[in-house]
Amino acid sequence: MAKWVYKFGAGSAEGRADMRELLGGKGASLHEMSWLGLPVPPGFTITTDVCTHFYGHENSYPSGLKAQVENAMKRVETLVGMTFGDPSNPLLVSVRSGARASMPGMMDTVLNLGLNDVTVEGLARRTKDARFAYDSYRRFIEMYSDVVLGLDRDAFAEILSEHKSAKGYEADTDMKADDWRAIVARYKDEVLAQSGTPFPDSPPEQLWGAIGAVFQSWMNQRAITYRRLHDIPESWGTAVNVQAMVFGNMGEDCATGVAFTRDPSTGENVFYGEYLVNAQGEDVVAGIRTPQHLTAAARDAAKADRASMEEVMPDLYRQLCDIRASLESHYRDVQDMEFTVQQGKLWMLQTRSGKRTARAAVKIAVDLVREGVITETEALMRVDPAALDQLLHPTIDPKAPRTVLAKGLPASPGAAVGAIVFSADEAEARASGGQDVILVRVETSPEDIHGMHAARGILTTRGGMTSHAAVVARGMGRPCVAGAGDIRVDYAAGTLTVNGETLRAGEVITLDGATGEVMKGSMPTIPADTTSGDFGTLMEWADKTRTLAVRANADTPSDAEVARGFGAEGIGLCRTEHMFFEPDRIVAVRRMIMAKDEAARRAALDELLPMQRSDFVGIFKAMSGLPVTIRLLDPPLHEFLPHSDGEITEVALAAGLTEDEVRRRAADMHESNPMLGHRGCRLGITCPEIYEMQARAIFEAAAEVARSRILVMPEVMLPLIATRSEFDVLKTLIDRVAASVKEETGMKISYRVGTMIELPRAALQAGSIAESADFFSFGTNDLTQTTFGLSRDDASHFLETYRKRHIIESDPFATLDREGVGELIKIAATRGRKTRKNLKLGICGEHGGDPASIMFVAEIGLDYVSCSPYRVPVARLAAAQAEIAMGSAKDSRTEMVA
Ligand code: PEP
Ligand code: MG
Repeated sequence: MAKWVYKFGAGSAEGRADMRELLGGKGASLHEMSWLGLPVPPGFTITTDVCTHFYGHENSYPSGLKAQVENAMKRVETLVGMTFGDPSNPLLVSVRSGARASMPGMMDTVLNLGLNDVTVEGLARRTKDARFAYDSYRRFIEMYSDVVLGLDRDAFAEILSEHKSAKGYEADTDMKADDWRAIVARYKDEVLAQSGTPFPDSPPEQLWGAIGAVFQSWMNQRAITYRRLHDIPESWGTAVNVQAMVFGNMGEDCATGVAFTRDPSTGENVFYGEYLVNAQGEDVVAGIRTPQHLTAAARDAAKADRASMEEVMPDLYRQLCDIRASLESHYRDVQDMEFTVQQGKLWMLQTRSGKRTARAAVKIAVDLVREGVITETEALMRVDPAALDQLLHPTIDPKAPRTVLAKGLPASPGAAVGAIVFSADEAEARASGGQDVILVRVETSPEDIHGMHAARGILTTRGGMTSHAAVVARGMGRPCVAGAGDIRVDYAAGTLTVNGETLRAGEVITLDGATGEVMKGSMPTIPADTTSGDFGTLMEWADKTRTLAVRANADTPSDAEVARGFGAEGIGLCRTEHMFFEPDRIVAVRRMIMAKDEAARRAALDELLPMQRSDFVGIFKAMSGLPVTIRLLDPPLHEFLPHSDGEITEVALAAGLTEDEVRRRAADMHESNPMLGHRGCRLGITCPEIYEMQARAIFEAAAEVARSRILVMPEVMLPLIATRSEFDVLKTLIDRVAASVKEETGMKISYRVGTMIELPRAALQAGSIAESADFFSFGTNDLTQTTFGLSRDDASHFLETYRKRHIIESDPFATLDREGVGELIKIAATRGRKTRKNLKLGICGEHGGDPASIMFVAEIGLDYVSCSPYRVPVARLAAAQAEIAMGSAKDSRTEMVA
């Protein structure tokens, strides 16, 4: 008979940590902790296979499940000495989801299940606390009505606040047992009114309702969005964990908390966490009450008045410290744990790998190697290359004067500047219109994730360091200030007020996620310093491990310097047209385009030559000793044409033409499809003077720099080549210019001439082109455009629909399409290398900074990737990971053979 249910608790378990696929992350951790002998309330896990069956069989369960659940429930009853549904000694359980990958807060949970009008009395007698029993009962009805019955939650909140104001109560703590009893009755009336059926009294019916709701929650909108953002496959499904309840809200000797084995913001090796006395677990995570510190040191540092757990419950704190040490060394990684103290006894409810900032991830990985816990290779695999972006984000200039409006918790580091918005939808709408926004909420909930994703930063007025806002923002790498309690938010008015000052939606604020400060207006920021410390160490390990070289796409001397600072090993793409867009140059460019004849065009080019030359001098100096690939002019000439009347007058004057002539010439150059038109090497063929000037600027600059004993390695690259004869014509031109510059300067510069491969024809003809070309650089932006026949400027509108409907899995302009574009690259690489063994091969499209694409490039054995300067460290790490993954793939093959 198939096994659908796995039991755990009381020092034994049927599952282990490596069974996440079947038991989900939470389930696997409960089994592992039980197996380790840690105090875990007993329970059982219904497997993800049941979820798969549920969705594959019209929301029904496999046969045998019911009997297995009943049997597992019996074991729990025996272990805790209580019986589910027993009027005098009722067992209460929690029912929680648990997917393979952690999806915090995305799916549903029901607590205190098993209560009804009879068992609540039994609970009251057993605990000698009627207030607690009825409070638990009303919480259960509220949660169950929301999660299982799908009723309107606000109606319940209204009933409660009406009751409180009728009685003149301020807080929930003013409520007595009879008050909760009255609330329970009114809640049940509300259920009947909203749903037309009474609230279910039978504990087994409650249990199956909750199990069904957890499975159904796998397909709720927020879970679907979360999966899409985190690339979690729908087919994984969730498990359900049913577990004996323990209560952190039975009095002052009870508590509930969340702890990290190290600081998840900085990575420092200090015990870090928060707890609340006399509270139920959800209260900490939901940010309803602001929690207290776990350690005395953290409390001192924060100058908080309320005592830490270390001070209030020293014995339990020490026990928790022991568990911290044993879990971290067992899992060999930082853990994020949830615990509850019930009447002086500690219970562990969860442990999982702790989500951390990029800064913390790097420090923890490097520290664990130093502590001898993991190897350098493991450390490299522990850091998500894409997350390094966070480290490279600017911070607020410390020298800039700060006028702090308010202070909250430093929940996720980095500086964020943007306009205030008060809803997630508004954040998304404005951000897609190109505006930088800061999402301001009292607290966030899983419904807000799309807005948090769209925002530059997140500010909340309530909640702690482990509140939803804090955890999610850290995971996303968004700067976040949480729990800025002095700020009052008025959603209806669209304002926030602090210390008598009111700011409206649309006004700009700055967040410092590292200090928790909120400033009015836009503050100056400075780039991150990533050249030293743990980051440098990790990068050194990456460099030792990888064989794929990493170059940068940089167009100016200052970009080249930044790129070199980030470890670029040369420039893989210098887009020379970017040098023409400067305001003082564009007039000369326009004069050149408008020129009536070659002589006039040459005069304009003579003016551009020194400008380009001085840029190349700067770039060669910044990249001394490293190769610099310079691509000759690529875009369609009409991109430089004058548009406004003012620009037309200016060009007419400069070129000695009438305004009408300028307009006519501009109209003549109009193309219906400029991306496939007169651009790239086609410009060089029809207007050779342009490429001649550029080649001259390159070689004169190289000669000048070489004269000061700096090694220059220019590589001249031709764009949009389709045929070998195009290449040959232009290579002859370049060689001719190089020869004359050598003659004029007396300096011999060695250089290479290569091509971009951006068109399918070029990829197919690579064998022939390689007879003339020294190197290929795959321009995967255009190659994707021309392989798919998709406009790179217009495709995003409908590609999103394609992605949602799984017609494609990812945007091919962001992550390389292995099957189509990748196949062309493989063909070109193979054919090219067959002709020329030492042909240098790289890619310089946007894919060069994308970890998944870098993996592909490494697999097929190209020599380098080239990406924007800020992505260079990302690429260095991704290249190392690709190498490790390929190495371990080899190892596992060997194992399989053995
Ligand atoms: C490319 O096409 O991939 C490329 C790098 O060139 P550009 O983006 O300038 O067209
Ligand atoms: Mg291109």
